[in-house]
Amino acid sequence: MSECCSKKDVTIKAGDPCSPPEGPCQSAAAPTEKAGECPLTWFKNMIPNCLEYARAAKADGKRIVGILCEYTPRELIMAADGVPVCLCGGSAKTIPVAEEHLPANLCPLIKSTYGYHAQRSNPFLEMADLVVAETTCDGKKKMYELMAESRPMYVLELPQRENDRDALDHWTSELHRFRAELEGRFGLQVTNDKIREAIHVMNRERALRRALAELMKANSPPLTGRQLLGLKSSISGIPADFKQYENALKIFGNGVRTADLSSRVRVLMTGVPVVHGAERVVDIIEDHGGVIVCMENCTGLKPILDDVDAEANDPIRALAEKYYRLHCSVMTRNDRRMECLRRLAAEYRAQCVIELVWQACLTYDVESYRVKKLAEKELGIPYLRIETDYSPSDSARIAVRVEALFETVRGGGRGGSGCGRV
Ligand code: SF4
Ligand code: SF4
Repeated sequence: MSECCSKKDVTIKAGDPCSPPEGPCQSAAAPTEKAGECPLTWFKNMIPNCLEYARAAKADGKRIVGILCEYTPRELIMAADGVPVCLCGGSAKTIPVAEEHLPANLCPLIKSTYGYHAQRSNPFLEMADLVVAETTCDGKKKMYELMAESRPMYVLELPQRENDRDALDHWTSELHRFRAELEGRFGLQVTNDKIREAIHVMNRERALRRALAELMKANSPPLTGRQLLGLKSSISGIPADFKQYENALKIFGNGVRTADLSSRVRVLMTGVPVVHGAERVVDIIEDHGGVIVCMENCTGLKPILDDVDAEANDPIRALAEKYYRLHCSVMTRNDRRMECLRRLAAEYRAQCVIELVWQACLTYDVESYRVKKLAEKELGIPYLRIETDYSPSDSARIAVRVEALFETVRGGGRGGSGCGRV
């Protein structure tokens, strides 16, 4: 592993911009100081990096707080001297043990997360002083009840009516109660100044990740969607991660590409989150001629599109406003998601929409009808819905449908019933 290259318009070995194949890159001025600081390499070690960070924080007296959803404001946890860690499970291996307690016909994300809990095999969960849950989908809500039998847990009650003043007021009071809970539980004061400080940190993180995502608007995106997906962390606010986001912006914003992706089909991916370890469908899409230029879901742009007003007189209200706007399919009606997809499809010049639905995720599944209609009738681009779980058994079938979709795109078609659902 050598230095990263800063020369413009150089195509380098796929997946490893820090290890350029030959010639000009090796003598180019390096934006990073040592091989270990290459952004892609750094985030490949995301879990060990986060573990080291969490252990050091815990030893330093900080609280580890597990979160399970993007509605949970990390800022409040950080303002309470806590380290927010995402606990969502992406492994198929933990599902069988989960099915001893949970129905098999449940979203794999819920089962995998619960399986880690049952096996006590997620080190972050094992060191957590608190788990924050939320009332989003029914499967999660009921799973939390089982998890709470042996874990300290606090549940945020999320109102689910979109654009409703009373709902926003209720959500604001929920965040006030959450602040009081953190103060009581951890024996400290969560002041407005501390919250504002945390808002600044999270706004910075969102801005950096947004800027990286925006590089994918280029005719020849500098990264694959899978590489971009990997450029983030289970723990927010880690200073070393921020440095790597800045490095990545310098490298990939400066003409360096990990491969020539200019002839790939540009995909807008939407639907359920693609959590760490569950990236199989992303790989299939990009191994069969696509490049995911925009990932609209909770592991992509959705949670980082809006910032929080750090100067607001009432920072809790400012947090409530930002998080209430998150357009998860548990909201009704979820028109904001359609507006967002419309805008992102135009900005990223998507040639098709692929929607991922985890099996038994009813809210995204039902809403897929509206997304398909939006793509095909309004945007005039083909749409494919992929329903699957964490098992690789249907990979070949998915690949065939993805290839068919891309042929439709290349043939200039809009799709329609033939490429609607897998
Ligand atoms: S998809 Fe909905 S429930 Fe899942 S993490 Fe995002 S906001 Fe939370
Ligand atoms: S993917 Fe769907 S069912 Fe699974 S946790 Fe998210 S909202 Fe719930």
